[in-house]
Amino acid sequence: AITVKNVKKEFKGNEVLKGITGEVAESQVLTIIGPSGSGKSTLLRAMSQLDAPSSGTVIFEGEDLTKSTKKDLSHLGEKIGMVFQNFNLFPNQTVLQNVTLGPIRVKKLSLEQANQEAMFYLKQVGMADKAAAYPNSLSGGQKQRVAIARALAMQPKVLFFDEPTSALDPENVKEVLKVIQKLAAEKMTMVVVTHEMNFAKKISDKIWLMDNGKVIEEGDPQTIFTNPKESLTKRFIEQVV
Ligand code: ATP
Ligand code: MG
Repeated sequence: AITVKNVKKEFKGNEVLKGITGEVAESQVLTIIGPSGSGKSTLLRAMSQLDAPSSGTVIFEGEDLTKSTKKDLSHLGEKIGMVFQNFNLFPNQTVLQNVTLGPIRVKKLSLEQANQEAMFYLKQVGMADKAAAYPNSLSGGQKQRVAIARALAMQPKVLFFDEPTSALDPENVKEVLKVIQKLAAEKMTMVVVTHEMNFAKKISDKIWLMDNGKVIEEGDPQTIFTNPKESLTKRFIEQVV
């Protein structure tokens, strides 16, 4: 589980997270929605310790990350996977090499073992047949599925997704959402920032609606989509067809 308590983040006196408190239980999916600039990415980065909060605590598996040393954090980093909007694949490495790099460097797997495990995760995302290809030859949806396989290969305890489909052409969105949905069914703990409301409704155990650095509404999808309290939430869920 990940628990955040009164997490704040400021950039040069500009407070962009204004005290976020809440929890993601193990095997659950938290989806974060909200307008541009409301602080969704900043919160993900604070929760994953990619960019530590200015104050407040983040507790991951009983450990207070905000009190951890650099060494503890690098160890914890292995348990936290991140998938970004723009894939961030290494362009001069094959698909297979992109997936094996972390396990070889960090988990000290042999090349043989890493290749074997990488093929397992590439199969899981439907990309095994592209193992020898270079990222530039792939569609956006294919690149994103490789990025997900790369994150999975580190066997993380939690996966963070920051708008994983917003850089994709519409025809590529579905295949990526399907992979994430499969992970949810397999009980991967996930925090997902998305603008895909139908998807949020389907996969979430809990939804947070952020506005101006705060979570202004929290609830399970059933409640959020049938009985939203805030007018902003109403506007967001109207995007569901
Ligand atoms: P979007 O939907 O557009 O991705 P978001 O909800 O993810 O928006 P954030 O990227 O978290 O929003 O940004 C929240 C606020 O924090 C914005 O006003 C942004 O300008 C500011 N901000 C984010 N990162 C930094 C930074 N490194 N330095 C200064 N300000 C920042
Ligand atoms: Mg963002």
